Amino acid sequence: MAALKYYNAASYYQSHPYVIHGRAKKDMVVLHETVSGDLPGLSDIKAVEAYLVSIGYGIHGMTDLEGNIAWARGYGNAVVWQCGGVNERSIGIEQVARTPKDSPASIKYWNGRTKQLQATSWLLAAIHNTWSIPLVYSNGDSPGITSHWSVSQIYPASMGHWDCHPVHLGGYYPALSVINRAKLYAKTGITLT
Ligand SMILES: [Zn+2]
Repeated sequence: MAALKYYNAASYYQSHPYVIHGRAKKDMVVLHETVSGDLPGLSDIKAVEAYLVSIGYGIHGMTDLEGNIAWARGYGNAVVWQCGGVNERSIGIEQVARTPKDSPASIKYWNGRTKQLQATSWLLAAIHNTWSIPLVYSNGDSPGITSHWSVSQIYPASMGHWDCHPVHLGGYYPALSVINRAKLYAKTGITLT
């Protein structure tokens, strides 16, 4: 089976081991948006990884405008602070973005980020093939792929974050098309190592 190609972000966690709060079985993926600099090359991803571990947080995977993918190899089951209420059971994916606001008007913003959406779908496909997390939209509590917005509707610990508010739930982020594309990509047999 083909292995996903990515920038390995494991060194951030090896140098900041205290941001890892144990290991746990995962049944959910939470999609995030960074609200950070949209910089060329890998510099945007590296800046976010460095910032998150510096404040005691962490993230399993990332994507950016150019379609770059980052993954912390060996940390797929690590518990890091990325989504209050579901940190134990979820894998987090940060998507570099500066979405204007939580409004249907922001649909256009994500429409211009095709390579990034495809990269997120590849990462979801590889996660699905590796750990059997279902490629269905989760309401923030059931197994599957969800958004920080959905988790915030259920868990006060997520403190009202609105990132990745899905189009099909009145927002702007194309969650269902990202998941549908991931189902197609999963058929290639792509995995994470
Ligand atoms: Zn978030």
